Parts: sequence; C-alpha cells; structure tokens
Amino acid sequence: MSKRDYYDVLGVSRTAEVTEIKTSYRKLAIKYHPDKNPGDKEAEDKFKEAAEAYEVLSNPEKRKRYDQFGHAGNSASGYGGGGMNMDDIFSQFGDIFGGGNPFESFFGGGGGTRGGRRVQRGSNLRIKVKLTLEEVAKGVEKKVKVNKQVKCNTCDGTGAKDKNSYHTCNTCGGSGSVRRVTNTILGQMQTTSTCPTCNGEGVEITAKCTVCKGEGLVRGEETISINIPAGVSEGMQLSMSGKGNAAPRGGIPGDLIILVEEVPHETLKRDGINVIYDLYINFADAALGTSVEIPTIDGKAKIKIEPGTQGGKILRLKGKGLPEVNSYHKGDQLVYVNVWTPKTVSKEEKELLEKLKNSANFKPQPGKSEKSFFERIKEYFE
Ligand SMILES: [Zn+2]
Ligand SMILES: [Zn+2]
Repeated sequence: MSKRDYYDVLGVSRTAEVTEIKTSYRKLAIKYHPDKNPGDKEAEDKFKEAAEAYEVLSNPEKRKRYDQFGHAGNSASGYGGGGMNMDDIFSQFGDIFGGGNPFESFFGGGGGTRGGRRVQRGSNLRIKVKLTLEEVAKGVEKKVKVNKQVKCNTCDGTGAKDKNSYHTCNTCGGSGSVRRVTNTILGQMQTTSTCPTCNGEGVEITAKCTVCKGEGLVRGEETISINIPAGVSEGMQLSMSGKGNAAPRGGIPGDLIILVEEVPHETLKRDGINVIYDLYINFADAALGTSVEIPTIDGKAKIKIEPGTQGGKILRLKGKGLPEVNSYHKGDQLVYVNVWTPKTVSKEEKELLEKLKNSANFKPQPGKSEKSFFERIKEYFE
C-alpha cells in the first residue's frame, strides 16, 4: 500500500512548473486510460495513481502540503490522498484537455468503437482501524477481514447465465453509445448518448445468472493486509486503491478507505508527536533526589530526580516521542513531575511534619533559579 512519490509517478522534478506537470500527466492519462486498456488492472492502477498525483501537484496549496508532509499531508482532510474515484478523474480532464472527455475523439474518431463504452465502478468501502500508541509509534501491518461485494464466480462477473445468454448489443454494436443526426435550422447536428438498450455496457444479457441475479456481484469476505505508516493519528484517512467493492462486468473496483482510531494508552498521553507522562513522587524523594522507573512507548526507562526538585518541573526525554508521518523527525517524551502531598496523615506523621514545619530550609524561597509556571509552558512548546 505504500504510495509512490507523486513526482516520481509523473516523472517530473520537485521544482517542475505546472505546465510541465500538466504535459506529463496528459501523456500518462492517454497511455493508461481504461478504454485503451480494458481489463488491465495494472494500467488502471497506474491511471489512478497518475490522476491522484496530478490532483495534488497541480494545486499549489495541496502541493505545498505534500512537499511538507508527504502523502499524509493531504489525506487527513480527505484531499487527494483520500482516494479519487473515476468520476473525479474524468471531470479533471476538462482542465487537462480543454473540455470534454478526450477519448471520445481520441479513440472514437477513427472509427473505433470503444469511445463511449461505460466502465462501471465499484463503490468505496470505509472501515475503521483501531491502533494502540505503540502501533502508532512503529507503524503496523493490520490484517482486516472485510465483508464486501466480490465478483460472482458462477458467471465470472458477467451476470449472464451461461455463454449463450449474452451477446453484443444490437442497438449500439457494442460501442455503448448511439449517435443521432438531427436536422435543425442551423444545419445537421450530431449528438452522442448512452445506448438505452444496454445502458452503455455494449453487451445485452438474455438470461441472468441465478446466483447473483444478473448483478455479477455477490457478498463475500476478503482478508486485506493494510500497512499503516508510523505516526498516523486519530481521524486520518488512508486509502487503498481497488480494495473496495468490486464492480460488475470487469469494471473497476472501488477503494478501501481506512479511518484511523486511537486506543487511549493506560499511562501515556499523546500530544501531537510528543508523549506526556504524569509522574508523582513523594516529598522526601523530591527533597533528597531519587531515580524512578517510568513507562515509555518502547518499554521502561529509568530517570534521575535531582535533589531539591520542585513540583511542576518538566523533564524531556529527547526522541522518545512519536515519529512524524513520512519523516525521520521524532517527538519527545515529557515527564511532568508532581510532588505528592499526603491527603491524610497518621498521628506519627503529623508529629514529624510539625517538627519540620518551622525549620529554616522548609520556608519557600523561590529564587531566580526556579522556573516560573509561564517559563515552563514556554519551554514545553519549544
Ligand atoms: Zn453471477
Ligand atoms: Zn447498446
């Protein structure tokens, strides 16, 4: 599922001008167009990959986000990376080819018959994937059983009962579209529309498959393995091209959209790429110093508490946080040191505390060496 770099997909440099991006995409779109490569899954993937790359790189804002954050930059908000369907791709062509679907004229013009044939597309499938903080930290491969529409094996997805129960559509001769010439006061006008007999598919079915009732699809289960990159976060969407619901009659399957959900961690809290741990130590340890074992994303770690540590101090464990998606940059673990004040005390404890209460060193002396609350907040956001 790992996506190729958009610049590589279009074969342009990272500094390429929009015109160059457009030219390159146009070539790829023509080369891999489904009408030109019927039933070729690889070509179809390439076609969609190029469309997605163009969608992002042709838009200055999305391109900037992509340059900065990689694929994740545009997936969280459902832009680009959220997966494009065929309708989106074809509507993009208006921009690329200057109006209309170019393949009408490109292939249809020379007497070809494929021009108007409709390619059916399966719907997108949405699933949720729950991830622990540890899985977010390292990235994970999840195997998920998905209930979806799959090709009917009885009729091989054709929807026809057997070999003799379908034939090329008589009305359109298999092209899927019909042309009509009408005389108007301005002269002859030719219009092309979807064939009403076969609904644009070019094939007419005389007897339907009894298993799928002519749909070409049945409900089935598929186990899909999903590679989740490290650093994803709650609400992010990943998409896997072609892993959604199947389309009837050799059409293009939809995409699988994966919504990321985070399972809260027992002791650690996430704050962006940082991880926060609330540490409580007792007053004696704060005064005398100690070393304590604390949880981190990758196991336990020992940290030293200096003698005379004030409550509210923030210790920073560099690089012990979460990675940024598609980056080597990692956040830190921040440890908030809280000094525990007893809520109840025994008679003996009370006597000891009474003794200490008025001793010289117990009088608060917040000198210049102690950081103020404001300074600590500022330090946290550095
Ligand atoms: Zn069937
Ligand atoms: Zn027809």
